[in-house]
Order: sequence, then C-alpha cells, then structure tokens
Amino acid sequence: MPKCFCSLACLLACLLACSRIAPCFAVQIVTWHSSSHSSRNKMSAAQEQLDEELQKYKDMFTLTPETLVRITDRFVETLEKGLHKDGQTVPMLPAYVFGWPTGDEKGSYLALDLGGTNLRVCHVTLKGKGEFDVTQTKFRLTDEQKQCEGQELFDFCADCLNTFIKDHFGGRDGEVHLEEDIALGFTFSYPMEQERIDHGKLVRWTKGFGNPNTEGNNVADMFKKSLEKYEVPIKMTSLINDTTGTLIASNYVRPDTRIACIFGTGCNAAYMEHIKNIPKIAHHKLPEDEDMAINCEYGAFDSFEHKHMADIRTKYDEYIDLHSNKPHEQAYEKMIAGLYLGEIFRLVMCDLVDEGVLFLGQNTYKIEKPNVFDTAFLSLIESDPTDELLTVTGLFAHFFGLETTIEERKFFKQLAELIGTRAARLSSCGIAAIVRKMGYQEKGCEVGADGSLYSKYPRE
Ligand code: ADP
Ligand code: MG
Repeated sequence: MPKCFCSLACLLACLLACSRIAPCFAVQIVTWHSSSHSSRNKMSAAQEQLDEELQKYKDMFTLTPETLVRITDRFVETLEKGLHKDGQTVPMLPAYVFGWPTGDEKGSYLALDLGGTNLRVCHVTLKGKGEFDVTQTKFRLTDEQKQCEGQELFDFCADCLNTFIKDHFGGRDGEVHLEEDIALGFTFSYPMEQERIDHGKLVRWTKGFGNPNTEGNNVADMFKKSLEKYEVPIKMTSLINDTTGTLIASNYVRPDTRIACIFGTGCNAAYMEHIKNIPKIAHHKLPEDEDMAINCEYGAFDSFEHKHMADIRTKYDEYIDLHSNKPHEQAYEKMIAGLYLGEIFRLVMCDLVDEGVLFLGQNTYKIEKPNVFDTAFLSLIESDPTDELLTVTGLFAHFFGLETTIEERKFFKQLAELIGTRAARLSSCGIAAIVRKMGYQEKGCEVGADGSLYSKYPRE
C-alpha cells in the first residue's frame, strides 16, 4: 500500500462528496493497485516531447498583464452598453432589489436554488447581526432533466421542495407543521428579465440546459403552477438570480460587500448600481438617488462576434463552443466555468493521444467520450500532494482504465495549472471592470463569491 494512502483516500473522498462519481467507488479504493513505480519505458512518452508540448500549451494558455488590461477595458465598455440599451450581449438585467440589508433582518424562510448542476432546497433562519442557520438538501440534476419539457423541470423542483418540507416539517401524524405564511424565495441561475421581484421572463437557457417551451416565459408562473400541482403549502414571494442572492447574502454577513460573483457550473456577477446610471429604465421614473442590484449575466461577454478575445481564443475554446447546445453564446463563461474546464483538459489529452504522445499502447476509448472529465478532476490533480502523484495515478486507472507514467502525471499537473490559472485571470477581468466602473479602486470593497469551482478549487 502506498505510504500516502490516507491523504489519497481523503482527497478521493472529497471528490466523491462533490462530484457525480458513484459512491460505490469508495469501496474500490481499498483494493486499489498502483503501478506508479513500475517502469514502462515502452509506454511512457519521451520527456523531451512532453516538455515541448508543455511549452506549446504555456504559450497557448498564458495571458499577459497587457492582455488582461485590454480585456478589462473592453469589459467596462460592454457593461456600460448593457445599462444603456435593452437586448445587448451582456444584458445587465435590473433585479428590482433596492439597497442593502441592515444585517438585523430576522425570520424563517425557504429557498429553492436551481443551478446548472444541482437543485438545492434550504431552510434559512436569519438571526440578526449578520448571523444565520441553514439546513440544506442537494439534488443532482440529470442530463434528461436539463432537456425535458420546461414544465416537467419545474414539477421536479416542486416535488423536491415537497419532499424537503415533509422530511423537515412533517410530524408523526403525517401532518406538515410549518410556520404560517413561511415565504419561499426561488433562486434561478439563468438570465431573466424582471419587471418585479416575483416575476422573471427567461431570456435564454445557458449551461447546457435546453428545456423546450420555457425561453420567453415567466418562470415564476411556471413554478407556481407546479407548486399547485403538488399542493405544496408554500407561497413563492420572490424570484432572484443566484448572483443577486449572493450579493445580498454576502452583504448581510459582511457589510462592505459591493459585488458578488459565481464560479460554479457557469460564471456571472451582480453589483449594486445607482439608478441614475441605468438609462434604459429611465421611463420607470424610479428615485434617481437610490440603488438597484444589477445581474450582469457577463458570462455572455464576447459572444457571437468573438472580437474582444479573438487573440486568446484557442482551438479548444472554439471546439467546445461549436459543439455546445448554444454555439457562440456565453463565450466568456465557456473559458472559465466548471462545466467547461475539465472538457478543455480532456480535449488537449485527446490531441496528444492522436499525436502519439500520451498513453502509448493503451485503449483510450473511455477518455475520448465528450464531457467525461469533470472539472473536479483538475482540482484533484492540482492538489495531489505526493511526489509520485499517486492521486493522479489512481484517477486515471479507476475512471479511465489508463496507466500513467510519472512524466505524464507531471505534465497533467502543469496542464491543469495552466487551464485553471487562465480561468482565474480571465475571471478577474470581469470583477476589475465592475470595480473600475463603480470607482471602487481607491477605497476598495469586498467581493462575495459562491459556487463549487470557487470553493473547491485548490490554490489561492
Ligand atoms: P450550480 O452551478 O448548480 O449552482 P455548483 O456551484 O456546485 O453548482 O457548481 C458545479 C460545478 O462545479 C460543476 O461544473 C463541477 O464540475 C464543478 N465542481 C464541483 N466540484 C469541484 C471541485 N472539487 N473542483 C472544481 N470544480 C468542481
Ligand atoms: Mg449555484
């Protein structure tokens, strides 16, 4: 047994807890045979060749400070455009959430969060002084649920909520004992045009969703219909984007928060804008000296024409974009977010298999399937603490039936770093653009962040 078995098992257990890998794998760890020390010169790619490849990918994925400044400049212009006119690529959607919480809000609430990978149902108790308790249940969405009839998706949400309520508020008599009039907030992580807090017309699906008969509809009404169908004893009082939710929740806990961003299945940000600086809603005649949250939906930056990042868009970004269910949309998000980073890594590996550089003499069919390499694997590779990179050995052996040489594993670790670093640097452009636009450079501000990519990816 390798001497680092404990940390290896721990890392894999973490991965199991957060990814779609079947739990039965935990049993297999015990019978794991690692061949990392055996010399397979015949199969191992030449060090020199891998060094050359690495240099090529360094050139491809490394962004210079000048490039980042230029992208940030373009980003600032793009944000302004979205505030001026409807229907822009980065739509800068008014969220109809006015001003900050005081921090003294109290009460008991239910929340349903439909994300790109997970559906979460939560019971939240706000205790004042920025303190709160949360009880949460997570349901992983299947590929079918992401494509089924829209109303069926909301039925599933209502069904999960019902189960949660019965589990947490059901008495022995089978009756549900809920505080009267407990309010439900529905967090919906997709671009929607809102006219008020309990309304939202889906602009377009993102993050691989494609449920028919939903785009252009008021998703609040669709969800209410499902609540009625399942006779859920709850009133939905607000519909909110996840970034806006993160903005307000972060400010409740840390009052200096001015911006919030999401790094999960997708990427996005929200911030508080002065109403006088949102010309496209001037006709509503809202008080000019007040502020309103803006859901930027900036994952769409550089979509369609791809002119702002043309020089850094790689053939892998292009491939992922063109093979997605929404080609040319969410261009920035596709270079940054959890749904895509693992796939970029996998496409590089496939190229190197075709070139006869990686996994020589082995059957690579498992790794050739689209989207089998979860971004969680990049985290695992980057955080492998062993000299021999035994976690990486185990990952490839167990999930893809592939043996790896130490040279290959070192290459993978550096490749993961390149892809992760590019994503992190690109992410900073969007945040920097909001900071610059709002003039926060001097006095600074706090930025709230949420999403598994942010919370679980290693490195600061
Ligand atoms: P949602 O987008 O549904 O709100 P999350 O915030 O949990 O869900 O983000 C899910 C995304 O995070 C997935 O794309 C997944 O690949 C990625 N992810 C999950 N675990 C990890 C991890 N350990 N390291 C990096 N990315 C991860
Ligand atoms: Mg989320």
